[in-house]
Amino acid sequence: MDTLTQSNFASTQQLELLQFLDIGLIVIDTHLNIKLWNGFMINHTAVESQDALNHNLFSVCPDTPEDYLRSKFRSVTTLQSSLTITWQQRPYLFKMDSYRPITSSAEFMYQNIRIMPLMNANAEIDHIAIVIYDVTDAARAQISFKENNDKLKQASRIDQLTKIYNRGYWEKSLEAEFKRFSRNRSVSVLIMLDIDHFKKVNDTYGHQGGDAVLRTMGKLLLSLYRDTDIIGRYGGEEFGILLLDTSTTQALALVENLSKVLKESEITHDGKKIEITLSYGLTEISDKFKSHDQWIDMADKALYQSKQNGRNRATVLNCD
Ligand code: GH3
Ligand code: MG
Ligand code: MG
Repeated sequence: MDTLTQSNFASTQQLELLQFLDIGLIVIDTHLNIKLWNGFMINHTAVESQDALNHNLFSVCPDTPEDYLRSKFRSVTTLQSSLTITWQQRPYLFKMDSYRPITSSAEFMYQNIRIMPLMNANAEIDHIAIVIYDVTDAARAQISFKENNDKLKQASRIDQLTKIYNRGYWEKSLEAEFKRFSRNRSVSVLIMLDIDHFKKVNDTYGHQGGDAVLRTMGKLLLSLYRDTDIIGRYGGEEFGILLLDTSTTQALALVENLSKVLKESEITHDGKKIEITLSYGLTEISDKFKSHDQWIDMADKALYQSKQNGRNRATVLNCD
């Protein structure tokens, strides 16, 4: 064999090997015409070699984002270096089915894509290689891990009985809002509220009756307040509501409405109607507070005054 034939033999073998690789390989020239289309591409796109070779990439793969890829081609050519597009940036660039059992809504193949400039003997870039890695398994595993984590995170923030935020998360949110105040100076009002004579509810209707009341309270609070309000169960039958961008006057109106709706709503347990009233303490945010704890303390003091003055009422205590 002379040298030329040997080298032809070697490249034929190399091309053969590329056909069996478990990764997608496309080579295009400077006119974006396809010069190599391996077995993986044939299997996953159902486009045969003869329909791909010497055809324009975007006419063979019309679903690929053309402007995006063209800009990537420009950048590998200009910078003369390879680049990678991960599935986190774009789940896929070449839409292909994934042959795995469908467990989620996504049945396509997640891809990591590497785009590489290819130089000729004169050190000019005259071709570009596109390598497509099927990363569906890893991507799906990571997505479901994240989904589970998000669910756990959400569950760890919620009080199981009332379905509103638990004390830990609620207090953290209040603290965050307190810290934001020093920057944005928007007025927010903290309401601490406590069910009156709740011990009597338990004594009269049993612990289950008490629980039913707490569940109703959670539902009522969630239905009456805005998405931006931060509602939490502070203790047994004490709740905290943080109203963002709200004046004390507006907060008092909300509180009055809550008591009215509560009075009109029928809470029943074992066919018996349970009537409850609420006492409130309201305190506006102030830069006199050194920490969010002092804010809670003042609202709690206001709540205590409502109790002292006969319950079923609201008391406002503000700095100054
Ligand atoms: P006040 O008007 O002064 O607030 O009187 P109160 O009876 O509501 O207050 P107190 O703090 O004396 O009693 C609160 C009761 O709430 C005592 C406790 O057993 C009950 N409690 C706390 N958590 C739960 C709960 O998850 N379920 C039920 N059913 N009861 C609870
Ligand atoms: Mg109480
Ligand atoms: Mg209490």
